[in-house]
Amino acid sequence: MFSKTKRLMNDNRSKRKRSVKKLLMINRKKLKAERAAGLGSSGECSRELVKQNVDGVVRDCQTLISGSCKKRVSVNRKSKRKISSVLRKTIRSRKKRKMEKIDKIEEIVEPMDRISELPEPILHHILSLLRCPKDVTRTTVWSKKWRSTWASFFSFDFDQKKFKTSGGKHPDKFITFVENSLATKLEAMHSIQKFKILLLKASIKLIHPMKDWINAAINKNVKELEVHVEENSLKRQYLLPNIVLTSTNLTSLRLYGCRFDNNATINLCNLKELSIKNAYVNGDLINNFIQGCPLVEDLRLIHCKGIGPLHISSLHKLHTIQLHECHGLKSINIELTSLVSFMYWMKDQWICGLNFVGCENLKALSIKDPHLADEMFQDLIMKFPNLEKLVLRECNSLEQIMILSKTLRELSVIRCKDLKVPLIDAPNLSAFEFSGERMPFSHMNVSALNEAKLHLKTKKNRIEVFRELKHFLQKFEKNGDWKLIASSNKNITIHEELPKIRHLSSNEIKLELIKSPTKLKDFVDNLLRMSRPNTLSLVSSSCSELLKFLNEKIMSREKYPKCCTYYLKKCWLHYIKDVSMVVLFEGAELGDAYHNLQQTTFNFNWQ
Ligand SMILES: [Zn+2]
Repeated sequence: MFSKTKRLMNDNRSKRKRSVKKLLMINRKKLKAERAAGLGSSGECSRELVKQNVDGVVRDCQTLISGSCKKRVSVNRKSKRKISSVLRKTIRSRKKRKMEKIDKIEEIVEPMDRISELPEPILHHILSLLRCPKDVTRTTVWSKKWRSTWASFFSFDFDQKKFKTSGGKHPDKFITFVENSLATKLEAMHSIQKFKILLLKASIKLIHPMKDWINAAINKNVKELEVHVEENSLKRQYLLPNIVLTSTNLTSLRLYGCRFDNNATINLCNLKELSIKNAYVNGDLINNFIQGCPLVEDLRLIHCKGIGPLHISSLHKLHTIQLHECHGLKSINIELTSLVSFMYWMKDQWICGLNFVGCENLKALSIKDPHLADEMFQDLIMKFPNLEKLVLRECNSLEQIMILSKTLRELSVIRCKDLKVPLIDAPNLSAFEFSGERMPFSHMNVSALNEAKLHLKTKKNRIEVFRELKHFLQKFEKNGDWKLIASSNKNITIHEELPKIRHLSSNEIKLELIKSPTKLKDFVDNLLRMSRPNTLSLVSSSCSELLKFLNEKIMSREKYPKCCTYYLKKCWLHYIKDVSMVVLFEGAELGDAYHNLQQTTFNFNWQ
């Protein structure tokens, strides 16, 4: 919808430009003709008036000029007034026509526009996800609704990093910038959607004005507040003003590198999202937060110290908990029927007990715990009969596990060093990810899979690992139209006919198996954007759809691609300096399996 609107508006703009150019040309020709006829004064007169042309009013001026010059009448006040009134009328009617055209475009577009029909809080949320403030402003071209949505969406994002230059951190410039922005914009506002501030250091110069800025945001009923102070020393961390902890309008609070007043009252009765990162949070404070935020839905404690035992049972809306490498976390006790997603990452040297009661609704579990033994894992997984997503990361004590689940759809096993052949019976598993030295999953049932990612980093037994891998890959041949993408050292190879890899190209190889051809195009697009490889090879038949797609996209590209005209960040096509294509017909050399296959390699030289 939006691209259609843009295209229509662009067409109109370019049409207007063309007509103005055409008229200016006519003017110049007439001017020359008049000069040749000895009408010097009329020439000057017309040049003067042509300068006044605004937005395509040339044609109307032209009539005036020829009329006035024929009679050789000097331009007196009366005629000047007449000219300017005609000009004003013309501009007004042009503007009217322009607005009518825009409204017509919106009429065409609006019946197809489902997004604009969403409630305003959701539209505000969509705007809050846009990273660049300019993109937020751009949404106003979409429709009338977005114009009003944007007008009611006030968001401040102050980042001191942007003021960091080789000469220093410029706290003075940053302070002036924040104060000017708030002074010019804040007064007219009734409320603010989002206020985000990032400081590079909690210096005395900054923390005093910072308190005033946060107070100002709280007084304007800010809904989402993010305070980020990059200070490693706990003692020198920024002391959060108590007013923040009693702001009943806040729905989201994200704090990084902040300290808290131990005697502060916490009353955040509308808070839905709480994230505390890099802070000292003792047991009492955590309990105060739990009591003071009764509606919290999403709780994240990241790199926090001093928590001790954590017990959560009273937050009936809480559906997501993330505990990420919190030093001093002794035990976790959770009794919540509302819990849907739980993430718990620990480091080697820390030991923490886990206990869940009544969490049958849990759907996503992510664990990184080097001390999680087989028995503990089996006890744990029994408590989640509705689990759909399981991530086991660096669980180095796991050796032999059993996963029997009809609900499990996604399974990731990342660098669990000692895991031997696990027993997995998950008939609905659609996504699988594995990273490690060798494949322990050669007996797994893959019939329901839609995608699989394998990251193999072999140090020894390369032949044995390759044999296991081939055995695993053979299962995919019987289950639909799979494509295999192998990447290693900035070289990517896509095998369209199912995988007959003859050797591992290096000690580290990433393999991705993808089922849908449409997904494959998106995947390749993404791969080129993210990794900018040196080579991209395609082993396919000569009539492959993907080959046509890549040929068109890469070899037939324009010198100055127009695809990202309206975006600050351009796609990968804009960064190709040079590219060459080599085709090898491999039939005879590779035997029957590769008969009629060709290997097309694109060699990239990036800017
Ligand atoms: Zn582009």
